[in-house]
Amino acid sequence: MPSGKDVVSSSGRRGSGSSSSNKKNAFCSFCRKSYRDVGPLVEGPGDVYICGECIELCQSILDQEQKRRGPSNNLFSEIPSPREIVGHLDQYVIGQASAKRVLAVAVHNHYKRLTSEWSGSDVEIEKSNILLVGPTGSGKTLLARTLAKMLNVPFAIGDATTLTEAGYVGEDVENLLLKLLHAADFDVEAAQRGILYIDEVDKVGKTSQNVSITRDVSGEGVQQSLLKMLEGTVANVPPQGGRKHPEQQYIQMDTSNILFICGGTFVGVEEIVRKRLGKKTLGFGSSGQQHSNDLTAAELMPQVTSDDILHFGMIPEFIGRLPVVSALAPLDEAALMQVLTEPKNALIKQYQALFGMENCELHFTEKALKACARKAMDKSVGARGLRGIVESVMLDIMFDLPEQAKGTSYTIDLDEADGQVKPFKHNAPEKKSA
Ligand code: ADP
Repeated sequence: MPSGKDVVSSSGRRGSGSSSSNKKNAFCSFCRKSYRDVGPLVEGPGDVYICGECIELCQSILDQEQKRRGPSNNLFSEIPSPREIVGHLDQYVIGQASAKRVLAVAVHNHYKRLTSEWSGSDVEIEKSNILLVGPTGSGKTLLARTLAKMLNVPFAIGDATTLTEAGYVGEDVENLLLKLLHAADFDVEAAQRGILYIDEVDKVGKTSQNVSITRDVSGEGVQQSLLKMLEGTVANVPPQGGRKHPEQQYIQMDTSNILFICGGTFVGVEEIVRKRLGKKTLGFGSSGQQHSNDLTAAELMPQVTSDDILHFGMIPEFIGRLPVVSALAPLDEAALMQVLTEPKNALIKQYQALFGMENCELHFTEKALKACARKAMDKSVGARGLRGIVESVMLDIMFDLPEQAKGTSYTIDLDEADGQVKPFKHNAPEKKSA
C-alpha cells in the first residue's frame, strides 16, 4: 500500500506502509498527476487516490448539480406556511390580498399533499388546481411566477389560445408540458411537481355557442385533452415540440402532481356578480347595506364564485377541475403608483440602480408617478402598460447617461405647461479648484 505523510487514507488515517517506491508512484486517479505536482493525496480503497484539486472540482460539480435540481428533497420538509407565502408575495405583488391568501393556502396544501403521498399515508388529498380571474395586468402571472420562485419548483407559462386540435395550425396541449420540462432542464421528476400557468382559459373552456370560428380553440379535442391534463394523466410529450407524429419518441409525464394555475380575464364577469348580489339583497329592505349597483369592479371581483364562472359560460367539467377560484381586482391609480416604486424589483428601483452604476442619481416626483399611472389606466392594460410608458420617458436620458459626469442627477417631473412627464437634469456640482 502506498504510504508516507503525503497520502491520507479516506478514513482519515495516514498511510503507514513503508514502501517508499509506492509512495513515489502514487498519483491522482482522476487527473493522473503525481503527488509531487499536486500535493497530498487522499487514498480510497483499492489503490485509488484523489488530489486536492480534483476534490475541489468534484465539489463544484456536485454544487452545480444540486443548484440545478433545486432543493428537491428539502422542499417537502420545508413547505412554507400560508402566512410565510403571503409575506413573500407581499414583497413583489401590490394589493390582491384575498387572491394571495387563497393561493397561499392552496399551494401550501398542494405541496403538503405531495408529502403525505410520499410518506405512504392512506388518506388521499385531492389535488386543487387554481383559477385566477382578473383583468389584464393585475398580477395573475406575476403571482404564479413569484410562487414558483419561492418554492424553487420548475415554472412555465402557456397560453390556451395557441392550442388547437390536430389538423389546425397551432400547438398540441402536450407542448405546454414540454415548456415545463424545459424549465426543469428535462428532469422529468422535478417537472412533474412544477407549476404550469395557463393563461386565457376563459377562451377555451367556453360552451360552444360562444366559440370563435376562426380559431378552433374550443374544439372538443382541445377541451378534452386540457381537462385530462388538469385532472392527472400520463401524457406523451414530444421532446422536440411541434406536432406529434407516429415515429417520434415521447417522454412520458405524469401530470397528477403538477399544480395548474389557470388565468383568465373573464370580461364582464363582474356584472354577473353584481346581478347575483343584487338579487340577494332584494326584499331585505337594503337599509344600511350597499346596493350592488353602487359597487365598483374592484369591490365586485373578489366576490366571484365558481357559479359566476359557470354563468359566464365555462363548461362545468372545466370548473370542476379548478376547485380553487380567486379573483384579482383591477389596479387603481394609487396601486399603479405603488407598483412603480414599492415591489422589491420595482421598475423605478431598477432604473435607479442603473443610474447608481454610473454614479448618477434619479428621482421621480409624486406628480410624475401619478401621471404615468394615469396613462396606464387610460390604456386599460393595468400594470402591463407601465413599463412602456416609463421606458419612453427614460429613453433619451438612458442614451446620454454613460457620458454624464459623475454626480449628475435627474428629476423626472410633470411639466405643468404641456402635461408631459419629462426629465430635468441637475449638473454635477463643479469641483472647486484649489
Ligand atoms: P396578468 O394579470 O395579465 O397576468 P401580469 O402578472 O403579467 O398580468 O402583469 C404584468 C406586469 O405588470 C408584471 O410583470 C408586473 O411587473 C406588473 N404587475 C401587474 N400586477 C402587479 C401587482 N399587483 N403588483 C406589482 N406588479 C404588478
